[in-house]
Amino acid sequence: MDLNLFTLIGELVVILLIILLILICITLILGLYLIKNKKLVFPGLLLFTLNLTYPALKKIFKWLQLNDILIDQISIDLRNRINRKKFQQLQAKDVIMVLPHCLRATNCPAVLGESGLECVKCGKCCIGTLKEISEKKEIDVYIVPGSTFIKNVLKQRTFKGVIGVACPIDLNLAMMSLEEFTPQGVYLLKDGCINTIVDVEEVIEVINITQPVTNYKLEEFTK
Ligand code: SF4
Repeated sequence: MDLNLFTLIGELVVILLIILLILICITLILGLYLIKNKKLVFPGLLLFTLNLTYPALKKIFKWLQLNDILIDQISIDLRNRINRKKFQQLQAKDVIMVLPHCLRATNCPAVLGESGLECVKCGKCCIGTLKEISEKKEIDVYIVPGSTFIKNVLKQRTFKGVIGVACPIDLNLAMMSLEEFTPQGVYLLKDGCINTIVDVEEVIEVINITQPVTNYKLEEFTK
């Protein structure tokens, strides 16, 4: 009797492992196709398998000493594409943008307030430029040093959409937890505590697609 029970448990574990392996293979095939070809196939299936296998995939990649950030990049790209249509329909005034304070210049004159860094648009880093464009569109910008400040922002005002910039891991986790706010994310090209880099044109592109659609270009704000 006991032997039968152990055999049954063993068989169940093997079946679950095989299912997990199949889900991981599906996630990797669809995810790599998305990153390489910039084409999304079976988005619902990819989101489903990615949500289920995210922790396992991260552990496997780390164990194999592969770049596990790729999993977060796939997840961000996928969520951006799934949300894009709905996000494009939002009025800019209902959208907020959250930037990481590590983007600021080392000699930034801004002080830290209750809602994050109070940028004075001194022109020493891209935050000032993004703030200026966002103000033209009535998008509120929050420059935050960490997740505690994001919680303050959530308490302060209501919004329907969010543009986020952060390192891939933080951004992916934030997009997962802010799913109801149709997030659009742009991950940092170089992360760290200071002097980080983001593709500013990519962020402007996302700002531009909110309603009413605009065509602001980086050059217009850096002359
Ligand atoms: S533009 Fe804003 S965030 Fe950047 S260095 Fe100047 S005050 Fe600081």
